[in-house]
Amino acid sequence: MIDLPSPTLRLRLDEEALASNWRELATMSGDAETGAAVKADGYGLGIAKVVPALREAGARSFFVAHWSEVPDLLEHVASNQVSVLHGPLHAEDATYARAVGVRPVINSLEQARLWLDGGGGPCDVMIDTGINRLGLPVDALSDPAVSRLKIETLMSHLASADEDNPLNQTQLTRFRHAVPAIPCKRLSLANSAGIALGSDYHFDLTRPGLSLYGGVPRSELAAGIRQVAFLQATILQVRQLSAGDSVGYNATFTATQSMRAGVISLGYADGFLRCWSGQGTLRHGEAALPLLGKVSMDMVVIDLSAFPDLHEGDWVDVPYHLPEAAQASGLSQYELLTLLGKRFHG
Ligand SMILES: *Cc1c(COP(=O)(O)O)cnc(C)c1O
Repeated sequence: MIDLPSPTLRLRLDEEALASNWRELATMSGDAETGAAVKADGYGLGIAKVVPALREAGARSFFVAHWSEVPDLLEHVASNQVSVLHGPLHAEDATYARAVGVRPVINSLEQARLWLDGGGGPCDVMIDTGINRLGLPVDALSDPAVSRLKIETLMSHLASADEDNPLNQTQLTRFRHAVPAIPCKRLSLANSAGIALGSDYHFDLTRPGLSLYGGVPRSELAAGIRQVAFLQATILQVRQLSAGDSVGYNATFTATQSMRAGVISLGYADGFLRCWSGQGTLRHGEAALPLLGKVSMDMVVIDLSAFPDLHEGDWVDVPYHLPEAAQASGLSQYELLTLLGKRFHG
């Protein structure tokens, strides 16, 4: 088979930064073990790259959301290190979990019964302490089905850990009151932001996701968390615009003078959404290259007037420092990561 030509988009994953972020979160987690949320293909960065780096750094507990995410993860870690957050919806999910040896996270009495009916085995349990998403209500914990579960990790999930919100303390208090009645091997409450709320929130296991990948949900994390994903796109064509020429769909930019423009191999199909139109910039070193007109599916056009040295085939940087990119785009740091398209990989 003939080799594919070089790609015109690339994502460099700084594996050392990823490992360093995990170690930073592990240090902040104190005596608690530090796991890793790797759902949604390692927050969009690719399970095959992210998981080995996290495993080498020392992570032993991995969380995905869907059953469909399990096979890729099992290429890199042992099945008893994997928890599936959505839990079993159908009997076949329980059958699958038992066959491959991963733990379902039980989120309701229905899921508890489904798991037990299928033969049971080690599982995790999610308690809802106020997010009202998935999780057993606290008052369902006295149900006999719960006492029959073999619970490895008993967990809850914070709704507002990225803010100074009284709900954090409320959820902590509810969790503390709920857990003594339920036998389990370990307790877990904190996501990335929750780790920064302090040792009261750490229990036995923390479950960071976002901050492993460079996200900064709280200012306490800003100093220690490094950017992990670095994006670049190629200049496909350089054009000379004349005064009066418009650029792109709906002609939203019109040149007022002669200018040099570059057509870049990056579009909304790659996760560079239309919200960047008219206000985003790409970069050449420290210099900003303003976007001209709308973002297309596969292209954007930038102002290259200040850079006569940039030519077709050269790379430009896509600014992806997550807190700054979130501020600039109005997208969340989570969205910025998970929407990156497939053309960045491979
Ligand atoms: C996604 C997720 C995490 C990780 O949260 P971050 O905010 O990305 O650190 C932890 N626990 C559960 C249950 C999750 O769904």
